[in-house]
Amino acid sequence: MMTTPLQRVAGELGWEYQHPFAYAAVDQLHWTISFQPAANQLFIQVNVAPLTDDQVASLNRYLVEHRKDIGASVQVNTKLLLTFAKPILFGSLKSPQVTELVQALATGLRSSGIGIPSHCGLCSQEGVDTTARINGIRVSAHQLCKDQAIADIAKETEAQGQQEPHVLKGLLGALIGAMLGSIPWILVDLFVGFYAAILGILIGYSALYFYKQFGAKVVKATRFIIIAATIFGVIFANFAIATYIIVNSDGLLIIENYIIVYTDPEIGPIMLQSLGIGLFITLFSLPTIFRKVVADESPKVVIQ
Ligand SMILES: [Zn+2]
Repeated sequence: MMTTPLQRVAGELGWEYQHPFAYAAVDQLHWTISFQPAANQLFIQVNVAPLTDDQVASLNRYLVEHRKDIGASVQVNTKLLLTFAKPILFGSLKSPQVTELVQALATGLRSSGIGIPSHCGLCSQEGVDTTARINGIRVSAHQLCKDQAIADIAKETEAQGQQEPHVLKGLLGALIGAMLGSIPWILVDLFVGFYAAILGILIGYSALYFYKQFGAKVVKATRFIIIAATIFGVIFANFAIATYIIVNSDGLLIIENYIIVYTDPEIGPIMLQSLGIGLFITLFSLPTIFRKVVADESPKVVIQ
């Protein structure tokens, strides 16, 4: 596997690294560092003693005063967890810069009176005796809570595996959603005569909405169901337009008349071209739909 810039930095500094996180112990605090190349952002997360509003205000003042050398913003995730974000260009990540940054942040925490964590990240009670990684972020914890949480998640995962995911119901919902979502597409095609990629996205969103309405869980396979339903929606729209043409010329809705529409020397090529353009446009909306499905997937908690 290729070494990531952060992995290289962690190696140089002797920090623990477990992809995609680097772990540093500085000033009795546990720092979880990750780098998002797509966003060009370095994230530094630290578990602290329960924060007061005054401490947060003081820390923000510190960051403003040291904007030039730190250049990071802070977000209070919970009263026990701070996330610093610093824009950094890909490849320009250097170990002196990262270690200085963590040192400067540690100084900022100290000067703001923010203490080392004494509360468990899992049960919020005092008297911690170990650390746990919750979704990769290192926090203080009780060994008992950690063991319990790991056991609970294992049990839950097993229970979910046995549970029927209602994918079939979801598939039905997705197809119905795609049909409903294709109505604007049909209307635009019939009465305006142009295509907009946004309408393809609408079919996908509608498919996803009805997938969930039918009681199905958003899982890994969902994205393929939604993509299939979206393509179905575009084909359905084309079919609906053919139906409109038949009805408009007082024809019966029988298979022979559909064959006539699609093979007619004048209408046929237009219909097929319209279908082709429709599918082509949908191809461009798929990444957006894909992201929406992924964002809706139920988050998994990992404790280590
Ligand atoms: Zn605990």
